[in-house]
Amino acid sequence: MSTIYQSWGNFPKVSQRAHSVQWRKKSLPDSLDTMLPHGLGRSYGDVCLNENGMLLTTRTLNHFIDFDIEKGVLRCEAGVSLAEILELVVPHGWFLPTTPGTKFVTVGGAIANDVHGKNHHCAGTFGRHVLQFELLRSDGERLLCSPTSNEDYFAATISGLGLTGLVTWVEIQLKRIYHRAIQAESIKFNELEEFFEISTQSDQYFDYTVAWIDCNARGAAQERGIFFRGNHVSEEEVPSQWQIPFLRRLPPPLRTMPINLPCFMLNRWSVSAFNWLYYNQQRQKTVSQLVDYDPFFYPLDVIFEWRRLYGKGGFLQYQFVVPDDDHRIIKTILQTIAASGMSSFLAVLKTFGHLKSPGMLSFPRKGVTLALDFPIKGATTFELLERLDDMVREAGGSVYPCKDARLSARNFQAYYPQWTEFSKYIDPRFSSSFWQRVSL
Ligand SMILES: Cc1cc2nc3c(=O)[nH]c(=O)nc-3n(C[C@H](O)[C@H](O)[C@H](O)COP(=O)(O)OP(=O)(O)OC[C@H]3O[C@@H](n4cnc5c(N)ncnc54)[C@H](O)[C@@H]3O)c2cc1C
Repeated sequence: MSTIYQSWGNFPKVSQRAHSVQWRKKSLPDSLDTMLPHGLGRSYGDVCLNENGMLLTTRTLNHFIDFDIEKGVLRCEAGVSLAEILELVVPHGWFLPTTPGTKFVTVGGAIANDVHGKNHHCAGTFGRHVLQFELLRSDGERLLCSPTSNEDYFAATISGLGLTGLVTWVEIQLKRIYHRAIQAESIKFNELEEFFEISTQSDQYFDYTVAWIDCNARGAAQERGIFFRGNHVSEEEVPSQWQIPFLRRLPPPLRTMPINLPCFMLNRWSVSAFNWLYYNQQRQKTVSQLVDYDPFFYPLDVIFEWRRLYGKGGFLQYQFVVPDDDHRIIKTILQTIAASGMSSFLAVLKTFGHLKSPGMLSFPRKGVTLALDFPIKGATTFELLERLDDMVREAGGSVYPCKDARLSARNFQAYYPQWTEFSKYIDPRFSSSFWQRVSL
């Protein structure tokens, strides 16, 4: 029976069959349909959808296999989520080597999109911390992949968008921590030049850096924002009231967005008002505080189903990277968005470091990346994003597939000329809605 599946952005909605991967058998179904692994569906667009085909849902692959507490090496099945890993490892003084802005993603999903976090400038992408994994192909072959074994499948599967086969288990190297607290600072800035100055300086001393910008403000205020930076603390740095319980705290309670908001409520004026409040709630230029890692890394996870804010029509996240030697392109893109009358509820800016990603199709590269959320308002939204695609291409940049649901084949192939080489590793029985569109 077919069920409607949708990705995080609620667009597109696709009818397809799902097959839950059985833990003991872990064999792939014998069917004429094409297949695609599906983790927690936190990809915004259609890399996790397979129109007219079948999804292999992996949440049954949710067992831990081994945890070396001395060395911080963790082996688990690919459907285990980052939230489950944190629950296990933080009390033992270990942390994820890098993490995206939500912990509700599976390790298999983190590998397939080679995700990045606030520490890209010093840790690179998730794939850099993967020691090995098993890849199950549709002909039943099981490949043990690592930087020294089946290296080509290792590189193709990290950032392989689920197309090279099913990752069944994964071994990763964790990062040592001494407390769950983060020494965090937020600094207000007025313009992009100031953002770049703070970013260059912060990347030397802070493991985690990212900024929010108020791209709905008009005129000079359009480049203002708040820069967030932080480091894990050592035990000695933590005041006594934080010491107990050591490394163990209850996660914040989850609240759920109960309904889809009517789309007229999210407009340029309401978004601008929200952003104004957000920017002005911090009065001082700089605020330093000790915070728990949960709200520092995962502020959006506190409201379950926050995507309903965008209404039934859904939304598109647009994330691109451009070289950071010329700051003008970011300014021009912000001006183009302002002139279009579209408003982005969330705009996140970060500089990527020079550490090379191990995946063949990995998105991060040295430069500056901006992520923007746009509610879908018909053709105008798609036309604006196509214009931005061209500007990014001309600037020598790229767009992130994991957030995409509408990129043209022409632009995808220009951003990722290595796609033909990558195609050799695609499992002949695997496909996705994204791949059907961009590999034309
Ligand atoms: C609030 C929010 C914040 C985010 N922040 C960031 C961020 O900061 N940085 C970032 O990089 N991303 C970010 N993301 C995107 C998210 O990290 C990725 O989309 C991630 O890949 C989702 O994992 P998932 O388990 O939900 O996988 P899905 O979305 O279900 O699938 C993603 C891809 O993984 C493949 N896949 C899943 N399991 C397997 C498996 N076992 N074997 C082979 N392939 C598999 C699927 O086929 C698909 O191509 C964010 C998403 C949200 C909703």
